[in-house]
Amino acid sequence: MVLDMFKLDGKVAIVTGANTGLGQGMCVGLAEAGAKVVGVARRSCDETAALIKEINGEFTAVIADLSSTEVIDDIISQTLKAYGRIDILVNNAGIIKREDAINYTMADWDAVYAVNQKEVFFLSQAVAKQLIKQGEGGKIINVASMLSYQGGIRVPAYTASKSAILGLTRALANEWAKYNIQVNAIAPGYMATNNTEQLRNDENRSTEILDRIPAGRWGTPADMQGTVVWLASKASDYVNGFTVAVDGGWLAR
Ligand code: NAD
Repeated sequence: MVLDMFKLDGKVAIVTGANTGLGQGMCVGLAEAGAKVVGVARRSCDETAALIKEINGEFTAVIADLSSTEVIDDIISQTLKAYGRIDILVNNAGIIKREDAINYTMADWDAVYAVNQKEVFFLSQAVAKQLIKQGEGGKIINVASMLSYQGGIRVPAYTASKSAILGLTRALANEWAKYNIQVNAIAPGYMATNNTEQLRNDENRSTEILDRIPAGRWGTPADMQGTVVWLASKASDYVNGFTVAVDGGWLAR
């Protein structure tokens, strides 16, 4: 039955940036679909753990700073210790640093790239090695942005890193399709999380943005749940290398 294809019972999902925002919403969605979730975050994931406990789901937190690739081995080994396998990786953790391009510092550029790009590639590589070893395929889901398609203002490193997510998603999909690993991405529109707090607090920018969203509202972490479950499930087995916008119609304008 088609709805059974969306079930994630017995699957193990790693989600980065699991303590808040879109990552937290996706952890809950994946757990509701039946996955055991390993949430990676710099800080405590207690709130996410409590939400998943309410639905009798399974959740394990791994505290790690994703600005360094040295944490990758530990993320993999803690996941295997908790649940014995990996099926799904959601590369959600990301940072944004705002400054005029003319004044943008190398330190800010490197900080954004470390989390939004380098970590995404090398964690995907480590998970893919485990998926290949298991021999049953798997799913990697990256989190892109509207700034994968547009230039944005005062966020050059973020735009560059999120535009690169589109290309990286395609590149990994091409190489790993033969192992039955699908690599796709979700491009969220303007969502009400910490990431957009500054924008939402700026009355002019906030009105400009809202006026342009056909849905007439900011997105929420819950808006990510259907798409992440679909891309993590058998229902998307022939979808590969694609970035799906969850944007209330923003890109259609
Ligand atoms: P958020 O700031 O609430 O969440 C970011 C997450 O990344 C947090 O869990 C944070 O702890 C984690 N993170 C950042 N640096 C880390 C590090 N060094 N080590 C470990 N974890 C780290 O914002 P969000 O909106 O939930 O962002 C989630 C993803 O969605 C990001 O990749 C962001 O770029 C992307 N995104 C958000 C929007 C939006 O409108 N909110 C739009 C497009 C894309």
